[in-house]
Amino acid sequence: MDSIPFNKPFMTGRELAHIARAHERGQLAGDGIFTAECHKWLEQATGCSKALLTHSCTAALEMGAILGEIGEGDEVIMPSFTFVSTANAFVIRGAKPIFVDIRPDTLNIDEQQIEAAITERTKAIVAVHYAGVACEMDLIMDIARRHNLMVIEDAAQGILCSYKSVPLGSIGDLGTLSFHETKNVISGEGGALLTNRPDLVKRAEVIREKGTNRSEFFRGQVDKYTWVDIGSSYLPSEMVAAFLWAQLEEARAITDRRLAIWHRYHEAFASLEQAGLVRRPIVPEHCSHSAHMYYLLFPDLENRSRFISSLKEAEIQAVFHYIPLHNSPMGRSLNSDLVSLPITESISDRLVRLPLWLGLEDFLDRVIHAVIEAANP
Ligand SMILES: *Cc1c(COP(=O)(O)O)cnc(C)c1O
Repeated sequence: MDSIPFNKPFMTGRELAHIARAHERGQLAGDGIFTAECHKWLEQATGCSKALLTHSCTAALEMGAILGEIGEGDEVIMPSFTFVSTANAFVIRGAKPIFVDIRPDTLNIDEQQIEAAITERTKAIVAVHYAGVACEMDLIMDIARRHNLMVIEDAAQGILCSYKSVPLGSIGDLGTLSFHETKNVISGEGGALLTNRPDLVKRAEVIREKGTNRSEFFRGQVDKYTWVDIGSSYLPSEMVAAFLWAQLEEARAITDRRLAIWHRYHEAFASLEQAGLVRRPIVPEHCSHSAHMYYLLFPDLENRSRFISSLKEAEIQAVFHYIPLHNSPMGRSLNSDLVSLPITESISDRLVRLPLWLGLEDFLDRVIHAVIEAANP
């Protein structure tokens, strides 16, 4: 019996041909023709003012922290139920993450609790769209405008997802995407910064190009390029962009296939939910997602552990997710006050992610059967 991994990267089959073309052209560093194609695609798909490929979503978040002029002693509001990079990007600038609890339905930051966390040191809110299901952006944008805060959408899991028909990553001042091997559309490591404020575009290009005005130089807008600002090397090589282009060409087809698997799971587990054994994902009417993840919530840690080991016996890998950042060694060292985020802590103990990758279709009946068996006591 084949064992079924949690994730298996999908290749469209055109990645190597595109890389070979970059190689033939002798175009190996960043910002060649494939990068330009990727930028155009992302701008069309999201409607952002400017898309810039980065070598990771982490890098895009770091650029966001620089663009937001986040510095020593500033505070940035974010969920604790997220990946470390959401916080680290701001912590390396000297800022303190202020963790807010999540909503029990979407597992996104609880917008109703944001305002109470704002102080005179607050500079930004990071909205993480968990599983590509949108945060309540209308309310978050309204709070941010009233308090003059920047909004950065961590849309690492949110490619081709939307909130009230507006693409994720294009709503806040800035948005970030990930093309890490574990995401829907991949390039091994990779990401993008989406800039939605035209006034930030030029500085974003400079920060990405080591603090130089190289982008303007290549467009013929200045006659020499030089050091004009702080920055780093945040752009990916053209070989990575060539790989990514093969994926973006098929991004909508990839999403459709993932959604078909997601819906098979969702229908198959309705009876488990009715029996009170699990809770299935909740996707509000006004949010459309791209099936980045299928998870189940168990009544408690014990039930979840039992479920994961039963599936393991059936040679199916299911995995839990984030360990809350506020309880991590680093999170505790940044926050001397004891923070209690009851929903975050409870969800973290009870959530399991099921395998979801292209090709899983052939094993789906087996997985569904095993999940139903394992979830029944
Ligand atoms: C994957 C992920 C990241 C990090 O993406 P990288 O491209 O690996 O840097 C950040 N935030 C969230 C919510 C993610 O899921």
